[in-house]
Amino acid sequence: MNLRVRTPRVLAFVLLAGIAAVVFAAAALAADVHPKVPKDVRLYIFDCGTIKGLDPALFNFKREEIKSPDFVVPCFLIVDPRGTLMWDVGVIPDEMFKDDGKPVTQGVSTATRTLKSQLAELGYKPEDITYLAHSHYHGDHIANSNEFADSTWLVRPIERDAMFAEKPPQLVDPKTYNKLRNSQTVLITKDEYDVFGDGKVIIKSAPGHTPGHQVLILHLKHTGNVMLAGDLYHYPEERGSGRVPTFEYNKEQSLASRAMIEDYCKETHTQLWIEHDYLGNQKLKKSPKFYD
Ligand SMILES: [Zn+2]
Repeated sequence: MNLRVRTPRVLAFVLLAGIAAVVFAAAALAADVHPKVPKDVRLYIFDCGTIKGLDPALFNFKREEIKSPDFVVPCFLIVDPRGTLMWDVGVIPDEMFKDDGKPVTQGVSTATRTLKSQLAELGYKPEDITYLAHSHYHGDHIANSNEFADSTWLVRPIERDAMFAEKPPQLVDPKTYNKLRNSQTVLITKDEYDVFGDGKVIIKSAPGHTPGHQVLILHLKHTGNVMLAGDLYHYPEERGSGRVPTFEYNKEQSLASRAMIEDYCKETHTQLWIEHDYLGNQKLKKSPKFYD
């Protein structure tokens, strides 16, 4: 009698233990597939600030010719199954933020959030990031470079040489990137450079704005082909206008790069995203949401 009563209890216990074991095993398996290593390439867009009050005449435009004279300053994290890439790292260094959490303004630029806090929200520290690359060396793209001195820097020799020349180029503050001098560095000498070796994340040469200006092409599974175009353009109205900013490193080169990139985008069905496009940026998903 006793046995009869016990047996179902034992069976129930064994059954429950079995279910628990399966649940634990499934959880362990899920933990193995770490959320930081997605199956497909992801693009996260961070808010690294705004630039307001610039005179459109700097870009050879009249105020009434453009919808928004303001710039947005995005930073981008690309997460590939094989590693991570930070593309452009802001206009205001994180270290300028005080503990009060208030926005920081420097000249015409304002940032309301640190880049580090936005990385942390996704579970990353700057030292976790595999690669650092900039579209170009201007101060509104490189402010947090020193945070990524442990990453491998992907840069064109002509751009790096200008950054570390005795007389640095205009619109840069070498203090914000001086630690890159000793970083592990890949000097990119070919037109297209495959960052992770899987054909999904490509840096492409588009010089003129600066000597080694480059763009980033992402082949995303669901979103399709996207180009982060650096400062190939600033305003959408520049496209097809034949007008380039007044402060180009080489105006003819910029025009040639633009023509080449427009052809490329048409042929490869690639969406071109102008990084500073204020109104365009408002429509984009921001981290922790992502494009994949
Ligand atoms: Zn810029």
